[in-house]
Amino acid sequence: MIPFPKKKVPRRVAREQLEILESLYPHAVTALNYRNEFELLVAVILSAQCTDARVNMTTPALFARYPTPQKLAAADQADVEQMIKSCGFFRMKSRNIIAAARDLADRYGGRVPSEREELESLAGVGRKTASVVLAAAFKGEALAVDTHVFRVSHRLGITLGTTPRHVEQDLTALLPPSKWGDASHWLILHGRQVCKAPTPRCPQCALRSLCPTPKIIARMGRS
Ligand code: SF4
Repeated sequence: MIPFPKKKVPRRVAREQLEILESLYPHAVTALNYRNEFELLVAVILSAQCTDARVNMTTPALFARYPTPQKLAAADQADVEQMIKSCGFFRMKSRNIIAAARDLADRYGGRVPSEREELESLAGVGRKTASVVLAAAFKGEALAVDTHVFRVSHRLGITLGTTPRHVEQDLTALLPPSKWGDASHWLILHGRQVCKAPTPRCPQCALRSLCPTPKIIARMGRS
């Protein structure tokens, strides 16, 4: 495994890295398919530890059978488990999406709330899920930190944060709030396409001259 840099790059360099990422992925949006806030919320819960492509294969049938929070709230858990099985952690996820749907139906009249605190009070919804929903559905100023955002921002030397919250703070300090949601997508796409786990494609990376990790990799090769 390639160790993360132990020192942050200067703020000016970090800003330049983010500008390059923005130019590389100017139209970045979530890869999850959804038609409304409810579908987005369910898709994001299902996407934990699962690829967006797999979630997109699963949700059309799920939403055809359970198109509203009220319908999903009344679902038989075994049926939902069967439908979402391929997304992994299917027992926990089915429990959570049914409980979240029940919360939406009982407390919010079937609507997905647009406030972070309310979103995070729903079953199975943590800070990252709430951030994705806020940014994508409500154009909210929220930066979601997933495994790609965490890895790429570390490799770039933007953060030394040991928790997603700490990484989020370092990233949001470098950008205006209007770009927080997009920045998450820049880093996710770069992580999927170039700065891959476990092996980044540094020779093909537009950020290589500003990134400390190629030097770390070179030192590993020499030792
Ligand atoms: S140079 Fe390498 S480690 Fe740095 S961002 Fe690009 S792919 Fe990732």
